Amino acid sequence: MAYIEFQNIDKFYGKNHVLKGINLNIEKGDFVTLLGPSGCGKSTLLRCLAGLEQTSSGKIILDKEDITHKDPKDRNIGMVFQHYSLFPNMTVKENLAFGLKLQKLPAAEIEKRVKDSIEMVELIGKEDEYPASLSGGQQQRVALARGIVMRPKVLLLDEPLSAIDAKLRKSLQTSIREIHKELGLTSVFVTHDQDEAMVMSDVINLFHDGVIEQSGNPVDIYTKPETSFAAGFIGNYNILKPEEMKKLTGKEWQGDVAIRPETFLLSNTPITSGESYKMQGVILDRVTRGNVLRYKILVNDVEVQADLLFRSASMYQIGDSVQVALANHNCVCL
Ligand code: ADP
Ligand code: MG
Repeated sequence: MAYIEFQNIDKFYGKNHVLKGINLNIEKGDFVTLLGPSGCGKSTLLRCLAGLEQTSSGKIILDKEDITHKDPKDRNIGMVFQHYSLFPNMTVKENLAFGLKLQKLPAAEIEKRVKDSIEMVELIGKEDEYPASLSGGQQQRVALARGIVMRPKVLLLDEPLSAIDAKLRKSLQTSIREIHKELGLTSVFVTHDQDEAMVMSDVINLFHDGVIEQSGNPVDIYTKPETSFAAGFIGNYNILKPEEMKKLTGKEWQGDVAIRPETFLLSNTPITSGESYKMQGVILDRVTRGNVLRYKILVNDVEVQADLLFRSASMYQIGDSVQVALANHNCVCL
């Protein structure tokens, strides 16, 4: 039996069918992500696990116990939200001690746990400050400390980094992973950002419109999308119809095919390596995406996008002819 089991979870808000028969197992110690566009039901599933929402039907098991109807405070689950929801009139230390005092723990134990948590989120020296005097990133570290100070069985994080700027976000991603490991937590993390999910997760569950479209480790999710939605959401895939694939490769295809932009080989001399399909194309457009150049290329009357590492020596100009090659194993049938 898995550590957390969602069994046939349905959730309606009025007529809005938000979760549609979710079955999901989460193993102890894993860092698991719910990834998907806004409005697809990620927060709702997380809130059902925390007990902040009731499911319409189905069962939730945590550590062999049916918690479907258990009070939130008895579930031993910590939660961190996008909006830090700290108590503004309490210092950092008081924010962290609040829940422990409610549990009537001895003062020395509270002191120790607060100190440990502050160390863990690297906020030493900020203990007596009020939230308003901290930056967004620091406030989110306090919220994270508050999530772990109760020593929860499971830590839930609902888009905790979405309001934080790009550079700080990277360092918080690392902190969260480290804390997860150090405390041996089981964590469920919600994000709409595919890159964030790739960096952080042991397992990604791709959500779409109230169902889990695909689950797997980041490499499998990235390289083996099973549906058009998965290929469209992750990895910037080219999605080509069978007719287009026939023009491109000269052979028959059954359904849509997904091709990652970085799997095309480009050259200005004929390609002699053993790639399956060799074609000629014309550069239609070019955009710079950081360290990658993305080319739009017309190949056998089909437009494709191909990525190349940004090295000035291998730059093509708009209108250039280019040799294009593609391996069969990089054509993922959907
Ligand atoms: P996500 O977190 O993936 O963005 P949510 O789980 O927040 O999506 O929302 C899923 C759907 O449920 C949306 O259509 C949203 O409008 C609806 N919804 C969420 N919370 C409530 C609520 N408290 N009352 C009514 N509808 C809600
Ligand atoms: Mg949400």
